Amino acid sequence: MNKLTCYYALSGINYKNSTVTCCPRQADQLVFQKDTILPSEIYNHNNFKELRKSLDIGIWPKGCDTCEEMEKNNLKSMRHDFRIPMSNWLEIQKKYNVITGEMSKDALTHIELRFSNACNFSCLHCSDVYSSKWANILKTFKQDNDMIKYDLKQLLGTEHRHGDDDNLSMKMSISQIDEIVNDLCKNFPNLELIDIAGGEPLYQKQFWYALEKLTKHPNAKNIIFSFHSNFNTDFDIVYLSHLLKKFKRGVILISIDGGENIYPYFRKGGKWSQLVKNINKIKRIDQKTHIVGTCTTSAYQILDIKNVFESILSLDLIFDASIVQTPKYINPSILNYDFFTVINKDFDEVINYINSKLTGKKKMDAIHWFNYIKEYTNETKIGYKHYNRFLVYIQKTDKIWDCDFNNFYQNYRIIDGELERI
Ligand code: SF4
Ligand code: SF4
Repeated sequence: MNKLTCYYALSGINYKNSTVTCCPRQADQLVFQKDTILPSEIYNHNNFKELRKSLDIGIWPKGCDTCEEMEKNNLKSMRHDFRIPMSNWLEIQKKYNVITGEMSKDALTHIELRFSNACNFSCLHCSDVYSSKWANILKTFKQDNDMIKYDLKQLLGTEHRHGDDDNLSMKMSISQIDEIVNDLCKNFPNLELIDIAGGEPLYQKQFWYALEKLTKHPNAKNIIFSFHSNFNTDFDIVYLSHLLKKFKRGVILISIDGGENIYPYFRKGGKWSQLVKNINKIKRIDQKTHIVGTCTTSAYQILDIKNVFESILSLDLIFDASIVQTPKYINPSILNYDFFTVINKDFDEVINYINSKLTGKKKMDAIHWFNYIKEYTNETKIGYKHYNRFLVYIQKTDKIWDCDFNNFYQNYRIIDGELERI
């Protein structure tokens, strides 16, 4: 069997909700933070070594299922998605001990931290694990038979969980941040990429504390510090920019995930005008930090894909995208059964728009991510039952959030519980 060489398995540590893995997609809980929080103990933890050994002999570990699914559909998976120079990547591979599965500490280049689920949004693709707003929403309604019958995981509080007894939460204290950052400064001289995800980091005191402390890492001048944010809250943009400038580069990955039409519907809690205001301000005061607009793409985005692209591209950011593979009832490909032809007509309009409005690198990036979304949507096969689950999810979430799908979508209507193109 072919080796499944993975950048993240060899060079990453990823802190999640009281657990630690090596990448954002890995679903197995490799280390529990109650056992250790220290990168120097996690990096060569037995479960990390076993994961590497399995990939090295070409066997997909269970928790790598989303990469496996992508590759089965001939798509590029996250394991190839590294953001360091090729020469550094080749050096990292030499630091793998094929017998023991160990890596030498100077091979760790990527770390991703999550401090808390505190968030001011409750987006339709998220869950209580990642959003405190979602956790509060779950307390406001009673689960009904449909939610159970259609296994609407987010509404049942089972999404991003590992079984009935998994009630872990994302909570990192200031003293734990001290332990982690001190260890990174002392033992990991080649750290190159720091990612912060959430919750909403800008909303969390731990984020600001960690950011200040990480500016003191001995390799800070060679580190790219990036964080995911909805960028839709009040915060001190000037101070943020000041801190980010202490790294080789700051990168703000702004999850936009909608066009002007559906933004307030999909990203519950968000205002498009506040987003635009914050983006304009950071662009005005900071030309060094890279501002990336990401489109996390589920079935909801596909239903308004032209406005999604037009709106995000109008913000004049670096464009980026990802796919919501789970829960399956919002996977983009569920729409193929009833709407394949019209969706591909919409895709044609998007590519015409990109070709007519953009030039140079911005055009290349937009085309790259457009093709990624289109190929995934068209090539992935998911059972029809998930489409029915989507319809029930829309019905339930509209009721819970007291809103109406039909007031936001221009090309589709829900009529008597069915989705229709208009
Ligand atoms: S193969 Fe994919 S899921 Fe598995 S560790 Fe690598 S990036 Fe993560
Ligand atoms: S902003 Fe992020 S963490 Fe908050 S609800 Fe949306 S996706 Fe979840």
